Amino acid sequence: MARKAPPQSDGGFTSLELDARLIEMLTVLGYEEPTPIQREAIPPILAGSDVIGQAATGTGKTAAFALPILQRIVGFGDKRGKPTVLVLVPTRELATQVAEAMHKYGRPLGVNVLPIYGGQAYGPQLRALKQGVDIVVATPGRALDHIRRKTMPLAGIRIVVLDEADEMLDMGFADDIESVLSETPAERQTVLVSATLPPRISSIAERHLKDPVRIRIAGEQTGDGELPRIRQMAYIVHRSHKPAALGRILDVENPTSTIVFCRTRTEVDELSETLTSRGYRSEPLHGGMSQDQRTRVMKKLRAGAADLIVATDVAARGLDIPQLSHVINYDVPNAPESYVHRIGRVGRAGREGVAITLMAPREHRMLRDFERVTKQKIETARVPTVADLHAKRLELTRASIREALLSDNLDSYRPVVESLCDEFDLVEIALAAIKIAHTATGADGDDAEEIPAPAPDSSSDAVVRRGAPRDGGGGKKFGGKFSGKPRGPSAGAARLYVAAGRDAGVRPQDLVGAIAAEAGLKGRDVGAIEIADRFSLVEVPEADAEKVIKALRAGTIRGKKVAVRRDQREG
Ligand code: AMP
Repeated sequence: MARKAPPQSDGGFTSLELDARLIEMLTVLGYEEPTPIQREAIPPILAGSDVIGQAATGTGKTAAFALPILQRIVGFGDKRGKPTVLVLVPTRELATQVAEAMHKYGRPLGVNVLPIYGGQAYGPQLRALKQGVDIVVATPGRALDHIRRKTMPLAGIRIVVLDEADEMLDMGFADDIESVLSETPAERQTVLVSATLPPRISSIAERHLKDPVRIRIAGEQTGDGELPRIRQMAYIVHRSHKPAALGRILDVENPTSTIVFCRTRTEVDELSETLTSRGYRSEPLHGGMSQDQRTRVMKKLRAGAADLIVATDVAARGLDIPQLSHVINYDVPNAPESYVHRIGRVGRAGREGVAITLMAPREHRMLRDFERVTKQKIETARVPTVADLHAKRLELTRASIREALLSDNLDSYRPVVESLCDEFDLVEIALAAIKIAHTATGADGDDAEEIPAPAPDSSSDAVVRRGAPRDGGGGKKFGGKFSGKPRGPSAGAARLYVAAGRDAGVRPQDLVGAIAAEAGLKGRDVGAIEIADRFSLVEVPEADAEKVIKALRAGTIRGKKVAVRRDQREG
């Protein structure tokens, strides 16, 4: 494939005076240009200054401190083997993540990274420390343990990073951080990264940082009156579920023409391939492609030969695609400006556009910035369930039948109906005909699996289902027993259909509450619940089914009388 050099003029990584080996590695990773926080933070950190960076997860903050620090370590030369860099992070998850990122970026420079966190056995940590590491990424408590036991020498530390400092304080690590800072050499370089800068952070900064360079990727407000009409939504989804979630969203939204944004070239290529293999007409677009290739992609989209393009920010810059209906951020944009820029591609010329953002649970903090710059509320939704998809497909079947009723000459089919009329009721005949029409479109050939909701602590507002495993998903199906697909309920349970759903404002707690109050069951007796737009499904013990049906029919849900029956869908 003809490859063109990436657009690296003034906006590229080369302008930041990074080591050629780092730049080469970034190209392999598919990074096309630095994010705003990287552009601002890399030069002062490289120059040895203390830095306070206000940035949340999703902005590229890790690379913003990791790249210049890795480069500085190489410059330290002689002292290698004892830790020279200490990165403090709030959680073990982040310790692993940051260590992995630093290891990945530092590989071409031969830098050793060790994550250290509580709950891990000491043995392997001690062995690794003895063998020699350059960077330790640690949670404050465990770092202090090693310092007290004198198993981690601090005399050689030349750089300390406090990552997600606000979270560390929230978790009660203030004293530990103070202790670690006062035990590292005073002439060290200190980098503090935090999504917010409450007074306690400023106080730490004042006492422990020297003349810090302050960086804030704040985001400009958009000017008045120029906001296009855009429906904005965000879905909180774990990384591993994003491809399935995107497919589900595309099926429910049914967009005419879409641009899906990814962060890197590699992601663009991979996602476009995945989408193609799932039957979408998708084309990749990124800075590694030649101008000819890019022109061809745009022609396809304009001619309607492609439904969606998957692109990086760089490649999509300057593109004008008037017919776009949807912008989907497969990854959160790395700064509020970039969000505004991306979503501004729809809603042109007075038409309504839709902007959808998939966010990993840790990235939800960026939503507030996006709301601030667009001066609009962004609705947080949960990924459509299989039941939603089912309902949507029925809706499409209904629409085509309606269209046929309004426009087609149906007389030639009259004899069929009339002959069946002797034997069956008209409604039954219609039902059978609809079933055949519906299945003929392949609409029910769906073998989709439920996408588990993110862990309870990560984003409660995205979870509208109950019964998801408490361990944060683990790839198991909804409650391990109920997928919302037309099939039988779990053993010993009856599934009830309640004729009110999200449109009527029904939430899982309303159903549990009603069942507990009206039928006297305990909350924990109520099984899986799924809420679709116009109905809900709820599992109760078979032995209580009739009692619950009766009680719910007699009572109200969200103040209304609602039809309740056993779910009739085939098992
Ligand atoms: P962070 O804010 O550090 O959690 O980074 C968020 C994600 O952005 C990570 O998956 C990085 O791999 C990715 N990333 C960081 N910098 C860049 C860049 N310049 N271009 C593309 N992706 C990036």
